[in-house]
Amino acid sequence: MTSYPFFLFFPSKDISYSLFKIMLTPLTSPALSKQPPVFHGIFNRHGGTSTPPFTSLNVSFGVGDDPENVLSNRKRIKQYLGAQILVSGQQVHKTSVLVVDSKPDQDQEIPGYDSFVSNVPGVGLMVQQADCQAVMLFAPKTKVVANIHCGWRGSVANIISKTMHTMEKTFFCKSTDLLAVISPSLGPCCGEFINFRDELPSHFYPYQVQPNFFDFWSISKAQLLDAGMRSGNIFTTPICTVCNTDWFSYRRDEITGRFCSIIGLKANQECAQ
Ligand SMILES: [Zn+2]
Repeated sequence: MTSYPFFLFFPSKDISYSLFKIMLTPLTSPALSKQPPVFHGIFNRHGGTSTPPFTSLNVSFGVGDDPENVLSNRKRIKQYLGAQILVSGQQVHKTSVLVVDSKPDQDQEIPGYDSFVSNVPGVGLMVQQADCQAVMLFAPKTKVVANIHCGWRGSVANIISKTMHTMEKTFFCKSTDLLAVISPSLGPCCGEFINFRDELPSHFYPYQVQPNFFDFWSISKAQLLDAGMRSGNIFTTPICTVCNTDWFSYRRDEITGRFCSIIGLKANQECAQ
């Protein structure tokens, strides 16, 4: 079944593009928006305070941007989502999964983690990106969220499967119940891997869409399916961050910012209904 899972909250055409650039205009997925306990957003590069080459909603402290601007951008995003606490990682393209099962006193950015799982209301799990995927997961029955930073190294190591295993082991989440949303990221149009025979396993070769070009959106979907998810519960977006300049892209610009995807459980969900 084909569907268009994303609504882009761009202003109408009669509003100037400059206004669009000062607003926060995150992508959201209806699949997650209609889940009452969940808040989420995939924030493009617009609406922040950073200056070139980080214009403007850079969320990374690790790219050379002024930390004051990064803090301001993160604060703006937190307020927009109603998140009380942000948890993120100093991502290293490996497979460590952080389980957040109690609410931290303040925002946390923990070295060495690329994947995050939580059952704590009010905590936003943030993945920082410039062409890598964020794979956001929600388990409706157990009310658990996850967010995975998944670049090609994460795909090779199958961090998706490792995260789903952690959700099952820690919180008894069944793969068949999960919803998944794959964020804008490197598309098959730009996924060139000249040294793929050294870098990618042979079971990725069927996803080669033209010589040396690979479809990592389909690779992630296959990994989600292999780990037990249902096809109808997996939602992707056809936005390539290299092609579309509304997103930070390491491949396109090299020295640039990071955009973010965030998912969490609403702080007041215990009071709902
Ligand atoms: Zn592209």
